[in-house]
Amino acid sequence: MSCTKIPNIISLSSTHWLSSFTHWLFPQSCFLCGDISTQVVCTACLADLPYQNAACIYCAKPLKSEKTNSEICYQCRKELPPYTHTQALFSYTYPVSTLIPAAKFQQNLAVLNLLGYLMAQFMILEPRPDVLIPVPLHPKRLRQRGYNQSLELAKCITKETGIPLDNKACKRIKNTAPQTSLTSSQQRQDNVKCAFQIINIKPHWQHIILIDDVMTTGSTVKELALEFKKAGAKRVDVWCCARR
Ligand SMILES: [Zn+2]
Ligand SMILES: [Zn+2]
Repeated sequence: MSCTKIPNIISLSSTHWLSSFTHWLFPQSCFLCGDISTQVVCTACLADLPYQNAACIYCAKPLKSEKTNSEICYQCRKELPPYTHTQALFSYTYPVSTLIPAAKFQQNLAVLNLLGYLMAQFMILEPRPDVLIPVPLHPKRLRQRGYNQSLELAKCITKETGIPLDNKACKRIKNTAPQTSLTSSQQRQDNVKCAFQIINIKPHWQHIILIDDVMTTGSTVKELALEFKKAGAKRVDVWCCARR
C-alpha cells in the first residue's frame, strides 16, 4: 500500500470525524503522545502510524525481507490461499501494537472507531464487494469481552462506504485458544480447523470481504474463507486493520 494515501486521511480527518471523537472518553489529549488534541490521536501521530508498504497481494505479508521482484510471498507461491487478496492498513508495529490492544481488550471505543474510520478511508479505493463479514467470536468470548472488535470495525466501514454488512452469515462453533498463544503455524491451523459454520449465504454474494483486526499467519481467515468457498462464494478477500 502506498504512503501517498496518508495525507487524504489526515485532511479528511480534520473536516469529518473530528467532532465525532471530540468528546469521547478522554479526547482532550492524544492517546499516543499525550499532547493536547481534540482527536483521540493527534494529526502528527496519525501521520507517523506504520501504514503498510509493499506486501504480498494474496496475504499482505510484508515483502521487504524477500529477495524477489514477485508480488507474491514465498508461502503463497508454495500454496495459494483460498482468499484472493488481503488489504492491510497497518504493519503490526508500535504504536499500532498499542492502539489495537486498547481497542480490543480495554474497551477503548474511541480508538476502535478511529481504526475503523481509517480502514474505511483506505478500503474505499478497493473494488467494491457485495458484503462485509466480520470474523465472528465464539459466544463465550463475546460475553467476556462485551463486543466483537471485528464487527465494530466493519460497522465503521459500512457507515463510511455503504457496503452492506452481515453479522449473521456465519458463526464460530469452536471456542479456540487465542492464536497468539500458539507458536507454530501448524498449531494455529489445527486450532481453527472446523471452527466456523456458515449459516446463510445469499446468491448475489459473488465477492465477500472478511473483516479482521489483526492477521498473523492467516490461519483464521483461511479457514473461514474455505467455508464460504465451499458454501458457494466465488471470491473471498480479507481486509484487516494490521498485519504482523
Ligand atoms: Zn499525538
Ligand atoms: Zn502471501
